[in-house]
Amino acid sequence: MVHRIRSWGAKKLSYAGRLTLVKAVLSQLHCYWARIFLLPKGILNRVETICRNYLWSGIDGYHRIPAVSWESCCRTKKQGGLGVHNCYIWNIASISKYTWWIANKKDSLWVCWVHNMYIKQHDWWSYTPSINSSWVWHQICKVKEKLKRGLNVQQWVQGSFSTQQTYDSLAGTSESVTWEPFVWNRLCLPKVNFITWLFAKDRLLTKHRLLKFGVISDGLCCICANAQETQSHLFFDCAFSKECLQLVLQWLGISWHLHMDTIMSWRCRSLLKKQIIMASFAGLIYIIWSCRNSAKHNGSIIRPKLVLQRVQSMVKYRMQGIQSELSILRCRDWGTAYAKVPATLRHNAQVTANADIYNTFDSVVAASL
Ligand SMILES: [Zn+2]
Repeated sequence: MVHRIRSWGAKKLSYAGRLTLVKAVLSQLHCYWARIFLLPKGILNRVETICRNYLWSGIDGYHRIPAVSWESCCRTKKQGGLGVHNCYIWNIASISKYTWWIANKKDSLWVCWVHNMYIKQHDWWSYTPSINSSWVWHQICKVKEKLKRGLNVQQWVQGSFSTQQTYDSLAGTSESVTWEPFVWNRLCLPKVNFITWLFAKDRLLTKHRLLKFGVISDGLCCICANAQETQSHLFFDCAFSKECLQLVLQWLGISWHLHMDTIMSWRCRSLLKKQIIMASFAGLIYIIWSCRNSAKHNGSIIRPKLVLQRVQSMVKYRMQGIQSELSILRCRDWGTAYAKVPATLRHNAQVTANADIYNTFDSVVAASL
């Protein structure tokens, strides 16, 4: 795993890029062994540390406290996490297939041998291995005990075996979060999704948080320097953010006052309309956060009008990117609006290429609103 990380050329990936690599590559490398053995805790600890370090820093050795605990990251997106596998539970779920085979007396040479050699006339669920049994057999029996504690085994053996389903049952369910559709909106770019996730968890490293950790001594807002830089000030009360928000609201034609609770619990008949509005707010959060970072590190900041343009292009390009998916989902608002608008615009010779894109998109948004 460390070798992979050091060999990757892209050192400056976003959080979203690193999350993809953690899920698709790093956390999969040990899976072959996790399917055969109950791995020692020390090894699994190391696997987890490498994944965690890479996600938060892009390197394998990192010694600062991460913004969000790994336990939270391992929850499903519905439960407020990132959907990364917990390697301890995944290992147990993978090994549990042996337990399932033995319980179902699967027709294999190994299962027959196990029944004749170890279990004999005993009931499998109450069976305890003798001291002289092999290490591997002890591990399988250990997994059986863990399964007995974690799930309803009688029901579990009756169904067909699935590592993922066993993992889900063992991981348990915690309360779902209301902001999941807002944070993981398909109309947002993945890097926007990640920053919005940190925002929803109130874990962006604002000066207020840094001050709490004792890293800095001045907690004033990087943009206006008029108040403490809390998340609520930075995104809702800061004069700069208020102006940006006003422009976005104007563009979307919304007159109600925005608050996180309003947008998260907001009910809307048109899914697409809701997704466009949510994506615009998520994009705004991302860009305000970039502006704050640029103000902090370079001392420069862009104009609110430019912020609006960036929000528009972010949502627009994403919509164009998944246009075919949207039409597959029979998103009628999108289909009709998108089909009509370019044709009307083609007759207007004065519209320049760039404005054409924006106007098209504005009309699409207007039509779906
Ligand atoms: Zn401010």
